[in-house]
Amino acid sequence: MGNVSKQTSTNRTITIDFQHEATYFQLLGNGKAFLECVLAFVLSLGFQLTHKATCRGGGCLTRHSHYVRVRLGGVTIWRIQCTTCKAVFTVLPHFVLRYRQMRPEVARDALLATHGGLSLAWCAVICNLSPMALYRLVCAVGQQSLVAVLMRCGLPLPVYILADEKHSRCLTDKVYLPTIVRGRVIWHLGYSASKSATAFTGSYGDFQHAALQVEPSYRVKGVLTDGFDSTTSSMRTLFPGARLGYCLRHALNKLPSKLVGVAAPVRQGLRSKFHSLLHRCRQRTSLRVVALGQRLRHFADHITAAVGQEHGERVRHWFQDKKAGWYVVLADPKMPASSTLLDQAHNTMDRKLFMMKGFHHPVGSQAAFLTGLAHLYNLIPYQRRALHAGQCGVEVEGGVLPTTDWMLNLQILTSAGFR
Ligand SMILES: [Zn+2]
Repeated sequence: MGNVSKQTSTNRTITIDFQHEATYFQLLGNGKAFLECVLAFVLSLGFQLTHKATCRGGGCLTRHSHYVRVRLGGVTIWRIQCTTCKAVFTVLPHFVLRYRQMRPEVARDALLATHGGLSLAWCAVICNLSPMALYRLVCAVGQQSLVAVLMRCGLPLPVYILADEKHSRCLTDKVYLPTIVRGRVIWHLGYSASKSATAFTGSYGDFQHAALQVEPSYRVKGVLTDGFDSTTSSMRTLFPGARLGYCLRHALNKLPSKLVGVAAPVRQGLRSKFHSLLHRCRQRTSLRVVALGQRLRHFADHITAAVGQEHGERVRHWFQDKKAGWYVVLADPKMPASSTLLDQAHNTMDRKLFMMKGFHHPVGSQAAFLTGLAHLYNLIPYQRRALHAGQCGVEVEGGVLPTTDWMLNLQILTSAGFR
């Protein structure tokens, strides 16, 4: 496991949008107006501040203390305090990044270039910063959990999910990235050195734990996987009541490998027959499961007749093994039928991890780094020729963002002082 950086209980930073730098500097001289502006912004977001556990947050806020960030050219940063629980919040204006000298504009360009697929080395040249600074920036963003940030955008916890692992490498070791996706949003991106059911249960369990913390009654109704044993058994352990379906497209792509030795055109023909079989079952409005059972039997007979007993039997056994998972997909219309959107997320992650391969090392902050990348995936708008151009994944899924500026959204949503 990579290091999960410790979340210190004292981090109650909140990023506040003062719109203009000049406004911020004016407000510094007027304590009452400063506080009002901060509270109005927090209220407009619909967020609450993370008071101490015993506090209901009903008390007043006062200006507590201030300090000067010398490395930022002497910007004054104020802290405010709850009069009831004495929790202290650091108010960061929108043009300052926590613990960083880098300006948000520079960070924005570097993160966008990274997200777009530019290597760390090129990002460093273009944005005039060190590759390590960029790596640390992504890790810093990744301190906040995906569940916390997505809930702040008003997205409901996902009831139907796609779950699968990305295979990757850490130097020469094989590693796995257990992932949970709902639509165009990544809800979990873990890191595991083993592909055992126990390891995957641990990783997916982090998501479950985070979800149950915000919503104790949270239940998953359906999970789509590609049928890999460790994945399905970890899902069974964590979400006992959930229906477990197998991806239909995955099944389609797997068929030719069950017909080894058969001439390619014949295999292709059988694959497209299988495709229309699955497609027709999905189109039916009733008795889809019965229809599938019948058609699978006929199809296995057809294979026996076309390419011989041995192939027919192999395919028949494979159907026996997998059909329960396919039935689940057909039985519940809300189940996703294919894991295409998960594959897209994995391909994006793969490109990033490839270009950052110089930074993979066993003692890196893998968990924070991957979570940071997943935040970028969820919050950076799609490019202008894309299907959902100008919108980010969170918006496509119906989430609400604090502002129209993705970098500012990233700063605000990953502030530890908000709840
Ligand atoms: Zn309080």
